[in-house]
Amino acid sequence: MTEVLPGVYRHTSSAHVYAVMDGDSAVLMNIGDGTILDDLPPQVKRVSAVLLTHHHRDVAAGAARAVRAGIPVYAPEGEADSLHDPEHFLALADTLNNYDARLHSWTVPEPARTLPLRSYRTYRFGRLGVTVRPTPGQTPGAVSFVVKMRRSTLAFTGDLLNAPGQVPRLASTQWSYNGGEGIAGTILSLLDLADLQPAHVLPAHGEPMTADALNVTADALRPLLQLRRHNPRLLELRAEPYEALRPWLLMNRTSMAQSYVLRSRTGRALVIDFGYDFAFGQAASTGRDARRPWLYTLPTLLKRYGIRGIDAVIPTHYHDDHVAGISTLRDVYGAELWTPENMVDVLARPEAHRLPCLWFEPLVSTRTLALEQPVDWEEFRITPYELTGHARASCGLLVEAHGERVLFGGDQYADPDGLGLNYTYPNLFREADYVHSAQLYARLNPGLILSGHWPPVVPGPEYHGVLLERGQQLHHLHRVLQPHTSRLILRAEPIRVASGAPVTLTVENPTMTAFDGELHVYGAADPARVPVTVPALGHHTLSFVPNGPAGARIQFELRGSPGEPCLFSYATLQDQPVQGDGTLGEPVYAGPAQPGTSAAFTAPAGHTGDPHAT
Ligand SMILES: [Zn+2]
Ligand SMILES: [Zn+2]
Repeated sequence: MTEVLPGVYRHTSSAHVYAVMDGDSAVLMNIGDGTILDDLPPQVKRVSAVLLTHHHRDVAAGAARAVRAGIPVYAPEGEADSLHDPEHFLALADTLNNYDARLHSWTVPEPARTLPLRSYRTYRFGRLGVTVRPTPGQTPGAVSFVVKMRRSTLAFTGDLLNAPGQVPRLASTQWSYNGGEGIAGTILSLLDLADLQPAHVLPAHGEPMTADALNVTADALRPLLQLRRHNPRLLELRAEPYEALRPWLLMNRTSMAQSYVLRSRTGRALVIDFGYDFAFGQAASTGRDARRPWLYTLPTLLKRYGIRGIDAVIPTHYHDDHVAGISTLRDVYGAELWTPENMVDVLARPEAHRLPCLWFEPLVSTRTLALEQPVDWEEFRITPYELTGHARASCGLLVEAHGERVLFGGDQYADPDGLGLNYTYPNLFREADYVHSAQLYARLNPGLILSGHWPPVVPGPEYHGVLLERGQQLHHLHRVLQPHTSRLILRAEPIRVASGAPVTLTVENPTMTAFDGELHVYGAADPARVPVTVPALGHHTLSFVPNGPAGARIQFELRGSPGEPCLFSYATLQDQPVQGDGTLGEPVYAGPAQPGTSAAFTAPAGHTGDPHAT
């Protein structure tokens, strides 16, 4: 154990581990193989916490030992799964048909129950304040810890860099089969930390450095990025992440689903959709460990466009690429979540629904927006309209301001011509949805249509006619290409239920013909056969109260005319109602950072990014 800076000691095992002193207590930055616990500075009476920058075993293997010793161990929230259940990750490393190049076999050797660290928050341990800064690079969820000590800023950077101009390893920067996601992420992270001007950079491997090393390393990585032809616009986008479509309407060019900013005359902002800001490439997985929202371009937004605060965010629909960053945005900037009424429940109780692309944590709305009821905010009038097809819980947002009508259509229509029918069956698509949305678009008659993933569309005179024709064709093809029963939709909610609590089964008939059939129920409810009649364009709900052990299922089979294909759904019994993670308490939390005043948000000039958006 050596003192590398006043009050900061270093022990080296599989990685450098730092003990940051606060009186006779210490906070450990990473744990290495755990042997630091045998080699603490003599004045240490108590280890108040272990903070992990990421889950790799060279920095985190001793986490289980620390937990056994009664020391709280904190880890970035996105890294928790691999620390809690390393067996799962080790098994992933042995997948036969594997396209996820991440180093799953590098996870910790034994599970450790960690407490979650949220990005940008400052956590207090005694008199020590530790701010969590997202620094994806070696893993998607990796963080650095920024600590102010004796008027200087220290950055504990884990494996972000190894030496000026060098990273600890390149193999862990490949998060998909042949990508270079982590290289782009490392560059963005290095430049972001460099903006904070830390006096000392303390890595998990390599010697202490000054802030220059961050820029030097970002520069050194660029030739590899260029050589691989990956993210060619990374730095251009970092410098200019927003495109001003109008002085009052900005488009985030870096986010995976484009988010938009309404900028008022008074310098306030309202954001439409906020998923993954500055997307630079994602891992080939849909696990929480592969999904990383952050607020990379926000400081530039505020500075460049003179925005003084973000009042609210309104999602067009609940898909993760449109909502993943909302809770962080609320946390840090105090933005309220205004939700059109038809998506309140799916955002608040994602675990209750069998739908794709859900975000992992509940998003509880500040304000519910009634459909077709205008809301006035600053000089803008905003009206949500139900817009189903791409997703059921989805809205078009009509914004009227400055003499224009702009429709935010989310992902309903794809392609540069705005005519692509972007439906997905698991999102509860109904065969006539695109007829209705074409009629809605014609009725609203916007001068500009903005979408989640495609360029702005200025509808010409033919547009609405073509849209309706295509919607009718889609409807017709669904009528003729399959038998009647297959055109119905069967869904059970909630999909996870406590024994003795009700499950609602909904049978929807989006066709023009009444449905007569029979529901067969198996499993955790009494075996039963129920005749089901659903009128044309109607629906029918049935309620069941299953009983049985956790893990048992109540299964539904809907039969129509004899010999037609059936429909199936099920719900699973569980011990307790699922509430988000449901397992972890919040760690000591010092309150949200103050936008514009904390280290996290005194953003200097340009931020950039190159999205990987499609
Ligand atoms: Zn999208
Ligand atoms: Zn979507």
